[in-house]
Amino acid sequence: MTDANNDADDREAYADRIRSADPAEGPARGWDIHCHTTFSDGTRTPAQLVEEARARGLHGVAITDHDTWNGWEEAAAAARRVGIPLLRGTEVTAHCGRTSVHMLGYLYDPDDRELAAMFARTRRARVERAREMVRRINAEFPQITWDAVCAQAGEGKETTVGRPHIADALVAAGICTGRDEAFATVLSARGPFYIPTPSPDAAEVVRVVKGAGGATVVAHAGDPSRNSTLLTDAELEKLIAAGLDGIEVHHRGNPVSQRRDLMREAIWGGVIRERLGLPGPVLVTGGSDWHGAGKPNVLGENLTGDDTVALLAARCALPIVEP
Ligand code: AMP
Ligand code: FE
Ligand code: FE
Ligand code: ZN
Repeated sequence: MTDANNDADDREAYADRIRSADPAEGPARGWDIHCHTTFSDGTRTPAQLVEEARARGLHGVAITDHDTWNGWEEAAAAARRVGIPLLRGTEVTAHCGRTSVHMLGYLYDPDDRELAAMFARTRRARVERAREMVRRINAEFPQITWDAVCAQAGEGKETTVGRPHIADALVAAGICTGRDEAFATVLSARGPFYIPTPSPDAAEVVRVVKGAGGATVVAHAGDPSRNSTLLTDAELEKLIAAGLDGIEVHHRGNPVSQRRDLMREAIWGGVIRERLGLPGPVLVTGGSDWHGAGKPNVLGENLTGDDTVALLAARCALPIVEP
């Protein structure tokens, strides 16, 4: 534990660095801490993720599949084998009012009962929601059955299902040319087949992940393409007051003007944390949101600095997997 003076100095030093950083440019070297695998809607296995991260010379990598930790074991074994540090995480589906919010949770204890129950609820809700969407789509496209969708899940029942798997079934049936077209047409949130995923409140996710010894970062908060509304500054500040640890500023979905605003919120958030007696700054992170061949995002295209990863891990119950 650092004493209060050290903490204030560290916080000030971090804020200074954010202030002088160019919002358009993340760190040139470091970790990619937002990546998906076959355990959700990525097309590569955890071992392939870790191998590619090593081949690209990343300092470390995180596995952050949607609403699950099922890929952690395979990723950890691969990280030890190929020799690259691994951050174990999850991208948690959440909402804030009418705004859909994705939270990155890191290094929490997966045996925590409240957290396990929260993930189980979301995964169950996802299956029901996907089945109902498939039922609606099936009335128009008889080839699209629940079995056809399940056939696209790389790890069977271990995979968190979502619209990308329905998209892959549409592509396999020759109805769409790719995930992009499927999302723009049949799976559009404005289309007749769409159903939202019931999810916990974002502040609840912050509380539960923190209660399980983990840290939370709000993902792609400034991406206007995935939401008709974005989190307001006031909503973001409420999450910070609830104990949010970081903001994913460097993400391809966040336009530069949004990154600038998010950086400013991170600096102000440090003041909020100080007033509430929460240690350390609001961390500024970056990640590619890699999905293998499922999206054009390139592994390592946005990074988080080594210092930021160290500050994040220092707040958590679980250690980084070191090779
Ligand atoms: P869902 O959570 O089931 O509503 O599906 C949303 C997921 O689909 C997100 O995790 C995105 O990664 C993915 N997604 C959204 N749009 C696209 C797209 N155009 N192409 C591929 N994947 C997408
Ligand atoms: Fe995804
Ligand atoms: Fe996301
Ligand atoms: Zn993601």
